[in-house]
Amino acid sequence: MKIAAMIKQVPDSKLIEIDENGNLRRDGVPAMVDPFGFFGLEFAVKMKKELGGTVTVITMGPNQATEALQRCLEYGADDAVLLSDRGFAGSDTYATSRTLAQSISDADYDYVICGMQATDGDTGQVPAEMSAMLGFGLVSYATDFEIIDGRVIVKQNYGDLIRKVAAPKGTVISVSREIADRKQFPSIRDRLDSKKKKIMTKDRVALNLGVFSTGMKGSFTKVVRTATPIPVKKRTITIDGSDPETGADELLKEVDL
Ligand code: FAD
Repeated sequence: MKIAAMIKQVPDSKLIEIDENGNLRRDGVPAMVDPFGFFGLEFAVKMKKELGGTVTVITMGPNQATEALQRCLEYGADDAVLLSDRGFAGSDTYATSRTLAQSISDADYDYVICGMQATDGDTGQVPAEMSAMLGFGLVSYATDFEIIDGRVIVKQNYGDLIRKVAAPKGTVISVSREIADRKQFPSIRDRLDSKKKKIMTKDRVALNLGVFSTGMKGSFTKVVRTATPIPVKKRTITIDGSDPETGADELLKEVDL
């Protein structure tokens, strides 16, 4: 069984800063593995334990993203691929998914495990776009799975509905929550072993993608403007209700009708 776990390196959510142009500051900001992608990795490692095979962790990002891959190797991935090229900069979700999907179709994976969303871009579009580009099925909002008669049965949690669906080979699964038997911390042995695992780097040419398929040139959308919402100030007022008419007038003034 060949399983790919897609993870993204994101700025540490406790240290998020917005620059003077309203863009997310990424340079020099400590980074972490996106939590949803990490849940996906746990899901993939559990699949490997139950079905056998290998987990390859894949990310598209700058060289710095190697740190995120190394962390995933400590948590049970077998090897890693960094997709990195100056030509990938400025990718929208379509160009991102195209690049990621190419790395999957090149290597014949059986399952692709993603996070439901990422804490920075947060569109939740990449898993669905990848499944369409690969011709794979899609199972979203996954929280766990079981193996019944050799079939992978995924538990989906929609909040008001829990559903179990079969996910045959050739499915993208997007994971929304950590699985129950998560590994809290890697052991010293896991850390030492991870240093022996391979991280391969692939650029645009290695992926056989044209200049107009990736990055800004391969993107259909353009960010015109970003803005930080102005927080609404909350306050509590007390209206004396002993004279209902006066009280109602005061209330009307406050709600500004
Ligand atoms: P989601 O769809 O919310 O992520 C869901 C899951 O998909 C993740 O949990 C993970 O499993 C997988 N996934 C998502 N991204 C990756 C990845 N890179 N590698 C591996 N797995 C992944 N971002 C920049 O950093 N630099 C830019 O210059 C830039 N320019 C942009 C320009 C435009 C016009 C637009 C629209 C966006 C730009 N972005 C840029 C943001 C970038 O498109 C998104 O970060 C990226 O497409 C992923 O989308 P998301 O974070 O919403 O992922």
